Amino acid sequence: MQLTIRGLSKTYPNGTQALKNVDLDITQGMFGLLGPNGAGKSTLMRTLATLQDADEGSAEMDGLDLLNQKDELRKILGYLPQSFGVYPDVNAQNMLDHFARLKGIHNRAEREETVKALLHQTNLYDVRFRKVGGFSGGMRQRFGIAQALLGNPKLVIVDEPTAGLDPAERHRFHNLLAEIGENIIIILSTHIVEDVSDLCQNMAILYRGEVIEAGVPLDLMMKEEGKIWTSVIAKSDLKKYQADWNVISFRHFAGKIVIRVYHPHKPSPAFEASPASLEDVYFARTLEKEATYAKV
Ligand code: ADP
Repeated sequence: MQLTIRGLSKTYPNGTQALKNVDLDITQGMFGLLGPNGAGKSTLMRTLATLQDADEGSAEMDGLDLLNQKDELRKILGYLPQSFGVYPDVNAQNMLDHFARLKGIHNRAEREETVKALLHQTNLYDVRFRKVGGFSGGMRQRFGIAQALLGNPKLVIVDEPTAGLDPAERHRFHNLLAEIGENIIIILSTHIVEDVSDLCQNMAILYRGEVIEAGVPLDLMMKEEGKIWTSVIAKSDLKKYQADWNVISFRHFAGKIVIRVYHPHKPSPAFEASPASLEDVYFARTLEKEATYAKV
């Protein structure tokens, strides 16, 4: 299975250029689309989910023209939007049954079987008679995955699914996504680096509507090996270091600050080498890109 996106562009009527000539090659398994808020992730997800049109470009999956064969695509699509509405007073089982009908599962026995299996899979079977409106954020997102998996989709799109979940809920949600199976394409859009490093075999970084990096997370990290340097400095020295070096991130630690610097070789004896993380890749690439905007 292969999803090929070429030259996808979108400008909103107010002039915001949300997607700029996006090319992506997405193979089966979990694909992470990483980018800060406003990068264009939802625009891309909604376009692939047939909910809005691009101005230009194409998206093709195994012979299916995603942007034009919308009815065909909807039959094999599962979509968990950034925020999705439910009828708050309907219980989880009835709600899922309702979505199953909408998805075209008309045979009652088949529908009951499907709904039951998905409630088990998403660990919601014990709370199936509770109203979805009273669910916690994590339960709601698992319910969202249950409805997205109705009808055995071949393409599953989940838009920022872990935003707002506490660590335990996120962990549970990660496990659920990881178990969905590798024979379909799952696109996970997120601004959280760990979502991608924990789950995704392939990824891309979207920034200001452009794909600025794409590949296998491990390969992208290996490429930066030997370029990440750390130093523990006094808080008062941060500005000076930021002026002198390419500080890609810093964190407070025991009253001091640990900085991470991106540099082709050891900046000074005060620095120590550190293995590159996916977060380093993300910060290094986005800061490089931002610098090109600052120059203009
Ligand atoms: P992300 O999902 O990465 O946060 P979005 O796709 O939501 O990014 O937004 C990309 C850019 O397009 C942002 O600048 C956002 O403000 C803008 N945008 C999104 N939707 C609309 C819209 N309906 N009308 C105008 N601008 C929009």
